[in-house]
Amino acid sequence: LSTRGNRHARPRIGIMGGTFDPIHNGHLVAASEVAWVYDLDEVIFVPTGRPVFKLDKKVTNAEDRYLMTVIATASNPKFTVSRVDIDRPGITYTIDTLRDIRAQHPDAELFFITGADAVAEIMQWKDAEHMWDLAHFVAVTRPGYSSPAGVKLPEGKVDTLEIPALAISSTDVRRRAEHGEPVWYLVPDGVVQYIGKHGLYR
Ligand code: ATP
Ligand code: MG
Repeated sequence: LSTRGNRHARPRIGIMGGTFDPIHNGHLVAASEVAWVYDLDEVIFVPTGRPVFKLDKKVTNAEDRYLMTVIATASNPKFTVSRVDIDRPGITYTIDTLRDIRAQHPDAELFFITGADAVAEIMQWKDAEHMWDLAHFVAVTRPGYSSPAGVKLPEGKVDTLEIPALAISSTDVRRRAEHGEPVWYLVPDGVVQYIGKHGLYR
């Protein structure tokens, strides 16, 4: 018997964390696929504040990344954007993201969505052992990154989901924008226009 369509006992909420510098269609397909397969009621996109694994890199200011995320997700009724990470001072740790979203949605079942590359970092995350109690973890396939053989993930805690392959990265979008190359169809139209209007990545 199908349980699709809001007949779960608890609301099912996905959390898509990322730097989103800028958000691109790879992020959106990942969230959409997990929402479909896991029958989620909502996916909350959470732009990071200061990403812990990018401390040595230049990151676009949080308001621009937040606004591009809002623009990119606006047309999907299941997609929302949260400011919890950009409003929390200091380095962003996923354990804090999960605790904040949990506090806002006490009765929800949470699904944290990552790509195959980010899941390799999971075990180094602060308080990793407490994260499993707060959410299910879904690692989606990503072109160029194989499932991390060297990384031991706790038994039964992280699902792997194959999704349509989009070989898009924010790094490549930034490089293209810097050189005046096209980013159309890699990011949503509104994000192309936001990048141009505000002269990002030049
Ligand atoms: P950067 O190149 O700046 O690191 P990115 O494209 O990796 O940017 P992030 O904001 O770092 O984007 O990623 C947020 C999340 O989305 C991560 O869990 C990442 O693995 C996942 N992700 C990013 N791009 C893809 C893609 N093309 N397919 C599947 N998952 C992706
Ligand atoms: Mg990345």
